[in-house]
Amino acid sequence: MKDKEEKIAENFKLIPVKDHKMINRILVIVTIAIVVIVTSSIAGIFVASNMRKKEEEQIAKKQDETVQGENQQGQNADQDNQVEENKPRLPVYSEEAKQNFKNIYVSNNDEKVAYLTFDDGPSKQITPQILEILKNENIKASFFVLGNRVATYPNLVKQEYEEGHYIANHGYSHEYGNVYASSQAVLNEYNITENKIREAIGVPEYSSHIFRFPGGSEGGKYAKIKNEAKSVLEQNDVLYINWNALTNDAVGKPTHESLVQDLKTTSNGKNKIVVLMHDTGSKQLTADTLPEVISYLREQGYIFKNFYDIMK
Ligand SMILES: [Zn+2]
Repeated sequence: MKDKEEKIAENFKLIPVKDHKMINRILVIVTIAIVVIVTSSIAGIFVASNMRKKEEEQIAKKQDETVQGENQQGQNADQDNQVEENKPRLPVYSEEAKQNFKNIYVSNNDEKVAYLTFDDGPSKQITPQILEILKNENIKASFFVLGNRVATYPNLVKQEYEEGHYIANHGYSHEYGNVYASSQAVLNEYNITENKIREAIGVPEYSSHIFRFPGGSEGGKYAKIKNEAKSVLEQNDVLYINWNALTNDAVGKPTHESLVQDLKTTSNGKNKIVVLMHDTGSKQLTADTLPEVISYLREQGYIFKNFYDIMK
C-alpha cells in the first residue's frame, strides 16, 4: 500500500515536473518562434530597404545619365550655335538674288521697305554714332565703303559687319579721274576694295557682289566708261545700284529741316526705297538727323531691310 502511495505521490510529483518541462519547451519554442519572426522581419525590412536603396540608386544613376546626356546635347547645341554664330555671313549671288536685286524698286504688294545706305565711310567721327543709333533702333543697314577708308579704319568695318550690316563696295579712291580712267579701272577699284574688306572683317571668302558708282551710274563726263564698266562688272558677278530717295546730306549747306524735308519729298509715293546718306567725317548732321529720319519712315509704315535680305 505504501508502495502504491509512494508511487502515487511520486507520480503526483512527476506530473508538475512534466508540466514544467512542457511549459519550458513551449516557452523555448515560443521564444525561438518570436526570435525567428523578429529576426526574419528585421531581415525582411533590411533586405527590402536595401532593395529600395538599390532601386533608388539605379534610378538616380539613370537620371544622372539622362542629365549628363542632356548636358552633352546642350553642349553640342551650344557648340552648334557657336558654329552658327561664328559662321561668316556671306552674301549669296544666285540668279534669283540677281533678279530680285535688279527689281529692288518693283512693288508687287503693299509692303513698304526702306534700305538705308551710307556711302564714303568709314570715318572715326561719324560711323560709330551711326552704328550706335542703328543698334538702338534695331535696324540693319548697308554701308558702301571706300577701299582707302577701309584700310585706315578696318575695325569700324569689322564692327559694321559683325553688327549685321551689309558691307558693299564704293571703289577705292573716289577720285573720278582714277575710277573712270577705263572700265578695267572700275573693276580694279572694286577688286582692291573687296580685298581691303576681306582683310578688315577677317573673312577671306567674303564677296559683296554689290558696287555703287561714285557719283552714280548714269550720265556725266564718264557716262561711256560707266556703261562699259556695267558689262565688265556683270561678267564678274558684280551688281550695281544707285538710290531712289535721299536726304541730300552731301549737297550744299543742308540743315536738320532740309534733310528731313528732302527725304519726305524723294520718298513720297514709293513703296520700296533705297535711301542715300553718308557717314564721312563731316556729316555730323546726318548722324544728328538719323533718329528723325528713322521715326518718319516708321510712321509712314516702312520696314527696314538690308541687302542680305536679297542676297540670300
Ligand atoms: Zn560717294
